[in-house]
Amino acid sequence: MPTRAFAAQSASSPLAPMSIDRRSPLASDVEIDILFCGVCHSDLHFARNEWGFTQFPVVPGHEILGRVTRVGSGVTRFKPGDLAAVGCLVDSCRTCASCKAGMEQFCTGGPVFSYNGPDKHSGGMTYGGYSEKIVCDEAFTLRVPSNLDPARAAPLLCAGITTYSPLRHWGVGPGKKVGIVGLGGLGHMGVKFARALGAHTVLFTTSESKAADGRRLGADEVVISKDAAALARHAGSFDMLLDTVSADHDVNAYLSLVKLDGTMVMVGVPPKPQPVAVFSLLMPRKNLAGSLIGGIAETQEMLDFCGRHGVMCDIELIRMQQINEAYERMLRSDVKYRFVIDMASLKG
Ligand code: NAP
Ligand code: ZN
Ligand code: ZN
Repeated sequence: MPTRAFAAQSASSPLAPMSIDRRSPLASDVEIDILFCGVCHSDLHFARNEWGFTQFPVVPGHEILGRVTRVGSGVTRFKPGDLAAVGCLVDSCRTCASCKAGMEQFCTGGPVFSYNGPDKHSGGMTYGGYSEKIVCDEAFTLRVPSNLDPARAAPLLCAGITTYSPLRHWGVGPGKKVGIVGLGGLGHMGVKFARALGAHTVLFTTSESKAADGRRLGADEVVISKDAAALARHAGSFDMLLDTVSADHDVNAYLSLVKLDGTMVMVGVPPKPQPVAVFSLLMPRKNLAGSLIGGIAETQEMLDFCGRHGVMCDIELIRMQQINEAYERMLRSDVKYRFVIDMASLKG
């Protein structure tokens, strides 16, 4: 089916309209009319080939929420009219140990990402959510709690799960001191989740103008990270730090804040390697780790958690045609705190 979308044709070209082909729903497929799609910094890294492995053209977008229009004959959990969502994953091998353990993002056969992944149906690459519709296997389609505002729920599909998963994995809860580094799309959800899980939550931001918002979003303390003395007051005190920064920064300065056997988890993916001094890891002993989105069951758990606790993203709604300007603002850390595309603008 011809489908309107926005794509980057090369690392240096702005995103522009492009017609893509979506398959008609197969037996296990759900067809979704996309209402909203969040704008993740990964979309920008991909569109500009900052990680070096983009295949063009690329249609970014993996925070996809919409209404079901058609379902295949074997679909049991969705019907036309339902709200449904698709995140970063649309398929995996489903048989390896990771898949069986509900960690499809670590599929050893290769997870199929929502965009720029090998599409086993078309033979080409998958196309993401900057488009009017998507067709996704029911097994990778998420249910959206009815009390969540659809536009404010869309970024949960990446920014939400990418922060929820490590906070849960490393046992964040009451009595734990957690630091969130960077107040962007991921960071603002990290603050909300750390607070909702009951941890003492400290936000580290380079932007003084975000301090009041940091507290409003749930941080118990806000530290302006350019202030070395303010940083030093927290030396060796964190059970966990979640680093969401998208660009070059001093990882060692943050490692010095982690306590004995605490963990610093990197989720931000700056295009260039970030130097780590071994001394930062051994006095006292501590862990440096990474985390990648979350599996399908955990993403559903996160959405249900948000439904129960009323957790949603703080967003700025934009038209599809504003995407290139939105990318420039994201590079200036000028987002409060996630751009979400109103997909009606693409159809109108
Ligand atoms: P974002 O909204 O642009 O937020 C990034 C934040 O990092 C900014 O708001 C800013 O916060 C801070 N920052 C930016 N440049 C900085 C610099 N030079 N030094 C220090 N701080 C800086 O991006 P996002 O969508 O949250 O994504 C963040 C990163 O996570 C990206 O690299 C993205 O690709 C990655 N990501 C990873 C996963 C995963 O599964 N691991 C999933 C999604 C995204 P302040 O203004 O508060 O300092
Ligand atoms: Zn993302
Ligand atoms: Zn697998």
